[in-house]
Amino acid sequence: MTSDPRPALLRAALAAAECGWPVFPLRPGDKRPTGHRDADCPRTGRCTDAHQTPEQRATTDRALIERCWQHAPYNIGIATGPANLVVIDLDLPKDDTDTPPAEWAQPGVYDGADVLALLAERHGQPMPVNTRTVQTRRGGLHLYFTAPPGKTLRSSGGRIGWKVDVRAWGGYVVGPHSTVGGRPYTVLNPRLPAPLPAWLGDLIAPPAAPRPTARTVLERRVVHANAYTARALRGELEKVLSAGEGGRNRAVYMAAFSLARFVASGDLSEQAVAEALTDAGCATGLPAGECRTAIRSGLTRGSQRAAGRPAATTAGGASNGRRPKAALLGSDPQQPTIPVTTGSRSAA
Ligand SMILES: [Zn+2]
Repeated sequence: MTSDPRPALLRAALAAAECGWPVFPLRPGDKRPTGHRDADCPRTGRCTDAHQTPEQRATTDRALIERCWQHAPYNIGIATGPANLVVIDLDLPKDDTDTPPAEWAQPGVYDGADVLALLAERHGQPMPVNTRTVQTRRGGLHLYFTAPPGKTLRSSGGRIGWKVDVRAWGGYVVGPHSTVGGRPYTVLNPRLPAPLPAWLGDLIAPPAAPRPTARTVLERRVVHANAYTARALRGELEKVLSAGEGGRNRAVYMAAFSLARFVASGDLSEQAVAEALTDAGCATGLPAGECRTAIRSGLTRGSQRAAGRPAATTAGGASNGRRPKAALLGSDPQQPTIPVTTGSRSAA
């Protein structure tokens, strides 16, 4: 018999609650909440009036937590929204075939941490690692931040980048000392959560901008160019405007990549291309911040191609193209490194 895991889990649940983070029980050894789903709700007990989601059930009440975790070795769900937390969840690829899509396919980009580093670099910001960090059971990272005042950020999966999930309102994280598949979630950096960097907040919930229509985009943007350039610009704008929801970011990136040669030849200004593509991207509903990031990235890569250079990464700088992972883990050399090999990973 192994020792009773309940006291340690109870202590961890109480520790989270003492930080003001409401917790709720997850099934023992599992990431899923206890209890029934909305679809199976009996509308009795705590759900008499309406189904109570885990986010609504989550509590910081010491007595309730003690009663719950004395009952069974539940894992710990931290309700990020009510906890005023935004957790950036940096995942690892599932297997060797799980490789970054075109927008993120650069030397040195292997996982969510690399994508966040690339995003930080594109925004001219340091990698936001000086904050509470929890290592997930597969070796991914949870970076904890306090939510910006006056902004309600929602959870999302992969929207700001490949393998980068956001856990905020409508989501939760598995707290440290929970164990899934026999492997624990552990605290790598115990400091208090830092405030969410503003650029990340803008990326998660871009400031609202008026949405131009597809027609005004074309009318406004294709007037001041020679016929050949205008045709190319119109063609790229139309591709962006007709992109489906899943392909908008890539369409903007590809358009910028393609139009970079007109910037290189002096037929279009970089500003004109950026403004036109931002307009077009926003007209499809893509947030302006995402447009700008895709445009910057596409223009950079496209101009490298136009100059006849191989499309080298602008990122990293390590001679093997790999981003130094140690930077992620702060200055403590004793901290474990993030596994980057894909061979040893078992299924989720
Ligand atoms: Zn219910």
